[in-house]
Amino acid sequence: MTPEFNLIKQYFTRPTRNTTLGVGDDAALINIKKGMELAISADMLVAGTHFFADCDAYQLGWKSLAVNISDMAAMGANPKWATLAIALPEVNNAWLAEFSGGFFACADAFNVDLIGGDTTRGPLTISVQIMGEVPIGKAIKRSGAKVGDEIWVSGKLGDAALALQHMQGILTLPKDMLTSCAKALHAPQPRVALGLALRDLAHSAIDISDGLLADLGHILAQSNVGAVVELTRVPHSAYAEFTTNLQDENYRKMMLAGGDDYELCFTAPLEKHYEIERLSERIKLPLACIGHVNACHGLIVHGLNNEVLNIKDTGFDHFS
Ligand code: ADP
Ligand code: MG
Repeated sequence: MTPEFNLIKQYFTRPTRNTTLGVGDDAALINIKKGMELAISADMLVAGTHFFADCDAYQLGWKSLAVNISDMAAMGANPKWATLAIALPEVNNAWLAEFSGGFFACADAFNVDLIGGDTTRGPLTISVQIMGEVPIGKAIKRSGAKVGDEIWVSGKLGDAALALQHMQGILTLPKDMLTSCAKALHAPQPRVALGLALRDLAHSAIDISDGLLADLGHILAQSNVGAVVELTRVPHSAYAEFTTNLQDENYRKMMLAGGDDYELCFTAPLEKHYEIERLSERIKLPLACIGHVNACHGLIVHGLNNEVLNIKDTGFDHFS
């Protein structure tokens, strides 16, 4: 047996739940239920670009799968299968145990099977492909937003960006605040239950990985519509001990453009408003209506005094 084979067997082979044939053969086999189609997406994480090479391996394992599951949630797809292609600079058993521990913790939490992949030597790079099921025709696309739709956001935005700025030494967070923000950055919770429920409610959806304005911008561009967003309605943490307020330019930027939030942004017709509020209670996830879709060209954000905010350098460049 080659060392690679042992490594795969030891760290990346677990019993599967949704799979005909998993890790170990030349290819995996899956059985798609009748009436369903496959949703497929991939995300690559490169050390030094997407994460610090010396970061916590367990958290990295969790996050590398979680960000992929988040794409399934944004499509209204039920995540089922993942593959993992990983380049490792060396075989470090302690690191591999932690990494695979975090990866499988996330896989277990969302009922995803790891069904294959590739392992090679090289600069630390993690490439995950995720596959999920959605009833034919039911996937929620970026292109479906309609004039008059309300715009909604789950959870709260900006915490992950705060944690990142703390790590970069740009600001210093108080201890308890650092704990909750670091959780948002390192252990994102993909909004699968929300995505599944939105199949029958939303016209369009996206997961917020690059910041609210940039990602909402993708919906607007692909749907050929515009939007108005009210800053005061964008959900964010209220930390009394810290100057995280909407007057603060840097904080505003983190909320609107920070990225790494992995919340869902979606649009839905006005008549679904109360159903969405009831859904929020049912799945115990705050959902905030932050604005509406219009027939104009572009995105306008209203500030604290209803003034039009300058959002040029917030990653929103689709209409510039
Ligand atoms: P091949 O030479 O056919 O590519 P490999 O030795 O690369 O086979 O892989 C053997 C088996 O282990 C395959 O089923 C492959 O999908 C799986 N595999 C390889 N690396 C990983 C990994 N990091 N995670 C999960 N499965 C893996
Ligand atoms: Mg291979």
